[in-house]
Amino acid sequence: MDYNIEQEREKCIMCGACAGTCPDNWEMKEDGKSSPKKTSISEDELDCNMSAAQSCPVNIIHIKEDKEDGKQLI
Ligand code: SF4
Repeated sequence: MDYNIEQEREKCIMCGACAGTCPDNWEMKEDGKSSPKKTSISEDELDCNMSAAQSCPVNIIHIKEDKEDGKQLI
């Protein structure tokens, strides 16, 4: 199973929590906001990215199963 990451980037408050929690896939960019290094992740990358999403104080990181009618995890 693969998962897709969506970030409501315009709402990012530049706190750095996601990049601190899951540096494997989250990094701070020159404009001060974060971005995921990749938006399609595999099962073994899920925990790290779920932690990043849970660390976000404004809840703008979303993870969804990559399939028809895939479940929204966060
Ligand atoms: S945790 Fe949320 S608000 Fe903070 S840098 Fe990451 S996406 Fe932006």
